Formats: sequence, structure tokens, C-alpha cells
Amino acid sequence: MTNPPLRIAVLKGDGIGPEVVESAVEVLNATARKNSLPLELVPLLIGFGAYREKGRTLPPETLQEMKKCDGWILGPLSAGSYPKDDPDYPMASGKIRKTFDLFANIRPVRSFRKGSQEIDLVIVRENTEDFYPDRNLFKGYGEFWPDKDTVLSLRVITRKACQRIADTAFRVAAARNKKNLVTAVHKGNVLIEGDGLFLGEVRNVAANFPGIKMKEGLVDSVGMQLVLAPESFDVIVTTNMFGDILSDVAAGTVGGLGLAPSLNSGEYHAMAQAVHGSAPDIAGKQIANPAAEILSTAMLFRWLYSRNHMESADKTASDIEKATIEALRTEDRAKLTTDLGGKASTRDFTSQIFAHLDKLD
Ligand code: NAD
Repeated sequence: MTNPPLRIAVLKGDGIGPEVVESAVEVLNATARKNSLPLELVPLLIGFGAYREKGRTLPPETLQEMKKCDGWILGPLSAGSYPKDDPDYPMASGKIRKTFDLFANIRPVRSFRKGSQEIDLVIVRENTEDFYPDRNLFKGYGEFWPDKDTVLSLRVITRKACQRIADTAFRVAAARNKKNLVTAVHKGNVLIEGDGLFLGEVRNVAANFPGIKMKEGLVDSVGMQLVLAPESFDVIVTTNMFGDILSDVAAGTVGGLGLAPSLNSGEYHAMAQAVHGSAPDIAGKQIANPAAEILSTAMLFRWLYSRNHMESADKTASDIEKATIEALRTEDRAKLTTDLGGKASTRDFTSQIFAHLDKLD
């Protein structure tokens, strides 16, 4: 019996989003065909495109259609510049994460270039609360003005969110089976209650994983360690904002945001979404590095495999990863995109990935 096609929503987003998502979808289509994995791609409106057509950046139809899909590929959103009259202001991606309870943001950081220092770590970032006011309340918005010269920003930390992100981090460390080490990153010396709760829950969860060591580190000192000795980390678990900042710092150690993939995942849904933003400074020039979005797509297919056990989904994920990594490991630097010191356009680099795909079994 043949499997029904996997339905994958494609939300291109803003800025460089359409360019990098187009590359990711081309690579996905070719790899899925090669592995006889039936796919149905469902393009959906989001961001400025949706605002122009529907008057809002995250139309309800988009959310409804997303529910009917097996997985989602999302490009970056120019959330910082959305119009104030947008009913979904300020942030469509926060609303998606909240609506579908995508509580874990998994952000791997790896050195791909030959001869570079061996860096291979994963940041497991809580995704639904903390200081992020677009997602940390049931109703309303977690930043407000009690008077015209004062802003209050609410930080929310819950036991449940701490437990499940810690559990995810220890499972990631066990599945990787590398250094078997989870570092819990916090600022518990200042945020005594909130990060005290976080740390206590990570310690409790650690007791369920006797084969995995646990370390603890203050976020400021871990920031420095990430720059000085990124190779010493395995899995980092932390709250939302620290994870967001540390993942950009860590991406800097391996060549920048063009190489930083991520998956937003929950119990029932997952969304590929590179770490980077919409990069308005290079948008429309066909020079963005699509590797981060392509590798995020591979992560989505590995997640789908963990749910549906379709070997072809797993093979699609590993083929996308292998071909992309081979293209990044080229001896000829000119074949890389400009962020990595090369001369290749987004399309040229995507063609390099196709060439490597053709060589895989
Ligand atoms: P950014 O990540 O868009 O860009 C930072 C720098 O990295 C820029 O110089 C950019 O050119 C470069 N860069 C990013 N991705 C690249 C790629 N794939 N290839 C080559 N170079 C790349 O961050 P920003 O400039 O601070 O934010 C721009 C907009 O993106 C803002 O509106 C912000 O709100 C939004 N944003 C969205 C997301 C998201 O949707 N996931 C994440 C971060 C920022």
C-alpha cells in the first residue's frame, strides 16, 4: 500500500524569505522524488504578502490550513516593521508558536568547513514564555505602559514549560550520544525566583537520565565560553530569550546566521524556520545563503520520521543534510555565498547542492 502524500505548508515570509524558502523547497522536491516520498506542498500567505492581500500578517485561513498539514516550512518575518494597524501585530511567528504549542526550539550549531575547529552543539530553547510578550500570556500582551515614561515587561516562567524543555534537552543529548552533557544556562543569581524554578526543574529532570551529565552556567559566562571554547559544549538548555541570544552568538563561531538551522516543535506539530531574520539589507539580491533554511527543512523531515516512521522521510532528511554539507565543504571558496567569503548567488549555491544530491545513493 502506498502512503498518502505528506502535506507540507510553505510560508515564504519576508525579505530574503522567498529566496531561501524557494531553494529549500527545490532541494526538498528533488530529494523526496529521489526517495519516492510523496509530497503535497501547500503555499500559504503570511507576513507582508498576507497583509497586502488580506489586511493582516497571519490570516485565520493560514492557521486553519496549517492545522491540516503534516509539517510547515516558514521563512523569516520582518516582524520589526509590521504596520501598527495589523490585527496580528506585533508577531505572527510568536502567535504560531503559541497557537500550536511549539514549546521547543532546537537550534544545532556545527562547523562545516574543512579544517575548522570541531564545533557541534545544540541549543534547546524554551519557546512559549519568558520575556517574549507576543506569546507569554493567554490573552493580552506582556508589555505595557503604566504611564507615558515607563514600560513594564513581564517575564513568565512556569514549572510545566521548564520540565518539558529540560526533558527535551536530555532526550536530545541521549539521542546524539556524543558528550552526553546538558548545560543548563540561567541567571539565577539575579532572577532568583524565575531562574531558580527553571534550574530546580532541570535538576529534577536530570535525575531521570543517569547516563547524561548536567552542568550549570550563568548566561554571561556561558556567552564568553561559547566564543572561547564552543567545542566544549554538547546540549545547552535555557529559557527563551537567553536561547535566542546565545544561538546567534554560537552561529557566529561557525560562520554566521546563514549556517544556523532551527526547528520549532511540539507534541503534534513542527516547523522548519532558520534562526536568521529577513535580512532586509540583502533581500531581493539573490545573495542570501539558503543553507540554514535547507538544513531546517531536513530537521523537519527527521521530526516527521520520528512520528510516522516512514524510512523515505528519514532518508530525505539525511540526503538533504549530506548534500548541503558537501556543498559547504567545497575546496573552491568562490562556490560559497558572499556571507562565507564566496561569489555564488543563492541559485548557484543551490545548484551545488543538486550536484551533490546526484552523487548520493
Ligand atoms: P537578520 O538575521 O535578518 O540579519 C542580521 C545580519 O545577518 C544581516 O547583516 C543579514 O544580511 C545577515 N544574514 C541573515 N541571514 C542571512 C543569510 N541567510 N545569508 C546571508 N546573510 C544573512 O537580523 P536583523 O537585521 O536584526 O532583523 C531583520 C528583521 O528580521 C527584523 O524585522 C526582525 O524582527 C526580523 N527577525 C525575524 C526572525 C524570524 O522570523 N525568525 C528572526 C530574527 C529577526
